[in-house]
Amino acid sequence: MAQKRRDFIKISSLSAAGLIFGAQQLRSAIPPYSQTELGDFGPLSSQRTPTYCEVCFWKCAGWVYKNQEGAIQKVVGNDNDSNCNGRLCPRGTGGVGMYYDEDRLKNPLIRVKGKDGKQTFREASWDEALDVVAKGLQKVKEEHGAECTALLTHGSGGHYFGTLLKAFGSTNIAAPSYAQCRGPREVGFIATFGEGLNSPEPTDIRDTRCLVLIGSHLGENMHNGQVQEMSDAIDKGASIITVDPRFSTVASKSKFWLPIKPATDIALLLTWIHEIIENEWYDKDYVERYTYGLDLLKAHVKNYTPEWAYGITTIKPEGIRETAREMANAAPSVIIHPGRHVTWYGDDTQRLRAVAILNALLGSWGRRGGFYVPEKASVPSYPHPEFPKPQRTWRDAMGGKYKLADLALASGVCDATIPSPDLNCSIKAWIVNGTNLIMTLPDQRKTIEAIQNLDFMVVVDTMPMEITGYADVVLPECTYLERWDDLRVVQGREPNIALRMPAAEPKYNTKPAYWMAKKLADKMGLGDYFAWNSMEEMLDWQLKEVGSSLEEMKRIGVKNLPREYGGLYFRDGEEIEFNTNTGKIELYSTALAAEGFDPMPKYTPHMEPPAGYYHLNYGRAPQHTFSRTSNNPNLTDLMDENTLWVNPKVAKEWGLKNGQPVYLENQDGVVSDFPIKVRVTERTRFDSVYMVHGFGHANKKLSRAFGKGASDSQLITRVLVDPIMGGTGMRGNFVTFRFEKESEVKS
Ligand code: SF4
Repeated sequence: MAQKRRDFIKISSLSAAGLIFGAQQLRSAIPPYSQTELGDFGPLSSQRTPTYCEVCFWKCAGWVYKNQEGAIQKVVGNDNDSNCNGRLCPRGTGGVGMYYDEDRLKNPLIRVKGKDGKQTFREASWDEALDVVAKGLQKVKEEHGAECTALLTHGSGGHYFGTLLKAFGSTNIAAPSYAQCRGPREVGFIATFGEGLNSPEPTDIRDTRCLVLIGSHLGENMHNGQVQEMSDAIDKGASIITVDPRFSTVASKSKFWLPIKPATDIALLLTWIHEIIENEWYDKDYVERYTYGLDLLKAHVKNYTPEWAYGITTIKPEGIRETAREMANAAPSVIIHPGRHVTWYGDDTQRLRAVAILNALLGSWGRRGGFYVPEKASVPSYPHPEFPKPQRTWRDAMGGKYKLADLALASGVCDATIPSPDLNCSIKAWIVNGTNLIMTLPDQRKTIEAIQNLDFMVVVDTMPMEITGYADVVLPECTYLERWDDLRVVQGREPNIALRMPAAEPKYNTKPAYWMAKKLADKMGLGDYFAWNSMEEMLDWQLKEVGSSLEEMKRIGVKNLPREYGGLYFRDGEEIEFNTNTGKIELYSTALAAEGFDPMPKYTPHMEPPAGYYHLNYGRAPQHTFSRTSNNPNLTDLMDENTLWVNPKVAKEWGLKNGQPVYLENQDGVVSDFPIKVRVTERTRFDSVYMVHGFGHANKKLSRAFGKGASDSQLITRVLVDPIMGGTGMRGNFVTFRFEKESEVKS
């Protein structure tokens, strides 16, 4: 399958068989669009099966209900689940649309060259497709070593392919949720407190008195449990401070909105630190008992006055002082929220260090209304042989850089796939599971260049995304409503586990990831790593190890377990050893200093947009999760394209009207494939435009999402890499308006 050149292939007429469904099949393909159509399905049956939602990473536990004919009807939250408290968000409720989406991948596909020399896909049996995958991976192993294979994943199936890859001899396993999302905050918090935040973040929002959101738009960013807690906290009188160039939904609920100039957040954070130290508003007992480096920090921030910050951030000094006082008055029940997607300007670990330091000064770490101490259930893995030790790991491909990264970088795997003199051996094969890398990684040209250098790529997905068009083999996965998966084991106030089981047989010729990985393992002589006969057997064994059973979990869905390691908060005067070099919370980071980085965050100016260009800001909508939901029939009913927020002053200068479609061109001359409609609003600054991420799909097989709106990912070609952990800063891009596009849009 050595193939030096891949064309993007539409997964086209192969699925035309879907058009000749019988009446019954057509009926089951109708998504539950509306209440009227819901009525058509008749009354719900009392039968329900437990699941946890896969529409986003929050993994809320719920129940799947079917109608009396056995068709999946709706998903509702599980009352005993602390991630959702019985209520799913709009996306979770619309998750049923993933199951009913008629654009789903339906059969295994293999890339072939047609008689005319053009590449195309042909349908294949599962046995044949898995044979091709096993042989493709084995060939790379024989020619280059197992270490030249990698898994890029986002979603529950990643665990099974991860086991397969480790058994095969490679630990190159990466998810874009790290270097393209939350990695810098993990490293920044580890450098400060000796531990990261993980997911869900242990923010004690329900009891907070002051919540500070910096570039985080909770509510539009539907982190279910957190949004519910925030709403309760507001009702109880908590104040919200929102720092955002855009008047987000949560800004409208906030006591303070600071419309900061983009790319200057560190200046504001340093000034808040300055104010809290100079005014002695910090928690003296806590800081003395638990922290290291106050004097060094005090000297470091001496000149970061509100007047200094005003010139940089455009936030007035009295606003900075007043908000610093607001936090101090609420301390320790205050949260400077670490955010989630924090890869912005390349100095992100340092910005998140400043967030961590501020929390430490206010004594909120380990305190009620600040950050609680989370616990996670300890569920053993099903017994398997030890994994072989690879001779090279992903770290070797980094050339000694990013030593403080605690997980592999998806962008690093991409870099290591493009041959260069620094690499002993570039990566030659990818398994891609549930992540549309073309729209997830910044700089699409580089991602495509990496793919062109692969010997082999298999893509596992439920939908025909852009990435599937570049695969050698496409394996169609069934949706989360049709499969068993691993137990959900996440941290929380109480350790807890949740079960996902199939509510229906897989539609079409699709299969679950565990089935694919186990079959591949058998074909590759690695069957011992998947020694269980069925998921039921495996799950029952695991559950009995933690005092439950499959039978019990089928009935209750979620089980909360008792805490084992102490209370939710630090006790007064409790002696605590933090997992840092000094055993203290490090205001001055000895780990960063040892690696030659600034031990305390500094402000560095970033590039300004050229005349006529604007900062490209992007974010989330409550109806969608990245690009994965943009074709979902239920969710496109709620929102089917993104719009471009433009300040009225800018609209006037350019003569832009509400609803007018425009193309966007970035600083590198890349023009959006599709136009986006303008939304003229005071709610964004004059130096920025804003759009929701995940739209502008170029794959025609996405019948609802194709050509709808613009893709921010396509316009992110300047990548500001964090020197500490390799996160890919994506907010350094600028765009201008174009009223027509010369070239034909690609499909
Ligand atoms: Fe599903 Fe919404 Fe929960 Fe995410 S937050 S897991 S989409 S219900």
